[in-house]
Amino acid sequence: FGLAIRTYAESPRHADRHLEACLTLKDEHGTAVPGYGWMFPAGDGTVNIGVGALSTMKGFKKLNLNKLQESYRQLVTPEWDLGPDLEKPRAWRLPMSALKRHGDGWVAIGDAAGLVNPMNGEGIDYGLESGMIAADLFIADPSTAPAMYDAAVGERFDAFLRTGRRFSFLIGHPWILRSGLRLAVGTQYIADITLQVMGNLVDSQTPGAAGRVMRLADRTLAAADPILRRTRAAA
Ligand SMILES: Cc1cc2nc3c(=O)[nH]c(=O)nc-3n(C[C@H](O)[C@H](O)[C@H](O)COP(=O)(O)OP(=O)(O)OC[C@H]3O[C@@H](n4cnc5c(N)ncnc54)[C@H](O)[C@@H]3O)c2cc1C
Repeated sequence: FGLAIRTYAESPRHADRHLEACLTLKDEHGTAVPGYGWMFPAGDGTVNIGVGALSTMKGFKKLNLNKLQESYRQLVTPEWDLGPDLEKPRAWRLPMSALKRHGDGWVAIGDAAGLVNPMNGEGIDYGLESGMIAADLFIADPSTAPAMYDAAVGERFDAFLRTGRRFSFLIGHPWILRSGLRLAVGTQYIADITLQVMGNLVDSQTPGAAGRVMRLADRTLAAADPILRRTRAAA
């Protein structure tokens, strides 16, 4: 799973066209954190400022999310000319798997079904899509809907999210994260692919270089899965 925390603050850049993401977060001991900090211009005089981290990181149990948020805030304050927090930063869990997502007469959608992308923490789209699948199937035939929903959601999301989970085990190791990051933004060409992955614009069906990278990642991470589980960083 992941954890994410956010608040709002006033900024003259509240109407910027672009959001900002920082992939090089470090905890208070200087350990690289698999996750990112973001600045989302809200267009109403404020920006949404937050950080998210994966539970696969070494030392996750000791990670102080408030401190991480505060250090990210300090980092971005000069460039965004941030005012004080408008509310106390609030944190929530990002569930990235579920043991069960259907049963007699019910289905779980969105976060309740563990449908959050481990590669970027996004869950809104999956919540909407799984909700639409569930609604259509229950309207068509409530008796078959739960099992058909589970199959449909599995077909649409499971392989991609499984790759994401394996990826999250991998970047839980600080040294892999550090060298991976250097590679991920090392050249403009690779940075563009990284951006597409982070923007949820690519899966293994996508044509072109980004799709090829995802297909390669699918296969490589699947083959490495037993090793990834055995060697996962100690929380
Ligand atoms: C700080 C943060 C930033 C995020 N940023 C992004 C982002 O930029 N993009 C993105 O795609 N995703 C983001 N996410 C993830 C995204 O918010 C969730 O994946 C998404 O909201 C899931 O939608 P959902 O409807 O499944 O669950 P929720 O949005 O959690 O909705 C569940 C609702 O059910 C209500 N509820 C709970 N229990 C009961 C009960 N017993 N009875 C009645 N109601 C109940 C809750 O109050 C809540 O309103 C972020 C998450 C966090 C924490």
